[in-house]
Amino acid sequence: MGRSTVNGTKAVHGGEPRAKAHDAITHPISATATYVFRDTDELRDHFEHRIEREEYGRYGNPTVRIAEQKLAALDSAEDAVCFGSGMSAITTTLLAMLRQGHHVVMTADCYRRTRQFVTSVLARFGVESTLVPPGDYEALEAAIQPGRTRLIIAESPTNPYLHVADLERLVAIRDRHRGVKIMIDSTFATPINQRPIEWGVDLVTHSCTKYLGGHNDLLAGVVCGKASLIGAIRDFRGVLGGVLDPHAAYLLIRGIKTLELRVKRQNETALAVARWLEQHPRIDTVYYPGLESHPGHLAARAQMDGFGGVVSFLVDSDEEGTAAFIDACTIPQIGPSLGGVESLIEQPALMSFYELTTEQRQAIGIHDNLVRFAIGIEDTDDLIQDLERALEAVPANIASPTRQAR
Ligand SMILES: *Cc1c(COP(=O)(O)O)cnc(C)c1O
Repeated sequence: MGRSTVNGTKAVHGGEPRAKAHDAITHPISATATYVFRDTDELRDHFEHRIEREEYGRYGNPTVRIAEQKLAALDSAEDAVCFGSGMSAITTTLLAMLRQGHHVVMTADCYRRTRQFVTSVLARFGVESTLVPPGDYEALEAAIQPGRTRLIIAESPTNPYLHVADLERLVAIRDRHRGVKIMIDSTFATPINQRPIEWGVDLVTHSCTKYLGGHNDLLAGVVCGKASLIGAIRDFRGVLGGVLDPHAAYLLIRGIKTLELRVKRQNETALAVARWLEQHPRIDTVYYPGLESHPGHLAARAQMDGFGGVVSFLVDSDEEGTAAFIDACTIPQIGPSLGGVESLIEQPALMSFYELTTEQRQAIGIHDNLVRFAIGIEDTDDLIQDLERALEAVPANIASPTRQAR
């Protein structure tokens, strides 16, 4: 299979022509909605011989194309197509590949909006789905309906428990069933830490809003894979219209140039933070695939070059005590999202499941004392000192519901 290691050289130079307009070192932003033809002959040539050129902004843009080529290079893919958000990449891909009567198998811990799209939107158009528990490969294979199942959708690592999907096992299952393809949402890993296409996965998606953009200043999405498949998805983008704006594409290209530096730093800090939290008396459980204690550790070691920048953990307290800890942090700010240079921290019970009761949250595995820490590129020592100070804000007399349960 020839697995590579992605390096900073690809992040800086990958997918770009060496010679650029006006001898500039950067690729220009092509801010144009349409493209003009010299004369009718050129127009005829374009339609008859499909000469490579842009025609209209919904079908392509040279700045966006550079971002696509760079992302394809990083993920060892033949081609890639960008969108205005991660969700646009996912929904357009699924609408391009599926039709009435098809069936999808999806791991139950996929991104909440992806699950919503599959189980409620696609269901309205006659596409059925089966959700299987993460890590249960027997259930996943048993859910495949011969002739109907077209796609296995999984994510790795996942939010918030950082479950790791064993790519080798998923690909082996795919190979036993004709007509089935695998799509992996690799957002949490980035192409620096994991390149699923090198393991035989058909399609890889990223929310480029996270690590790839890396600066919390843009929304974008991408899907990478074989050129024929990506071409069909690109055609469908022309129908649905979820294009990436060239200005955001420029920021994305610029962000990717430092991807390797940022992700390596985030990997290192996250591992140090996870190890530090694991020995802290006010911390109940730490979820990080780089820890030997994590159930996905061995799979992560086999298929990843680093374990990512998100660490989740249970504070030994209740909802209020956990909120007091979060409010006492002075470096990470409270917000959804991840992967940017600024650290973000959140209590999933409140950020994502505010409308549910404690009992309803427990039923879907979200504890009130769960914290998701999306690490930025601040100094590791500063972040750990901040956590140490903030943990002093946790009232000492309240034990966590998770600890009482054990
Ligand atoms: C954020 C995210 C998405 C959605 O991406 P947007 O860019 O916000 O549309 C999809 N999958 C995962 C794993 C994400 O973290």
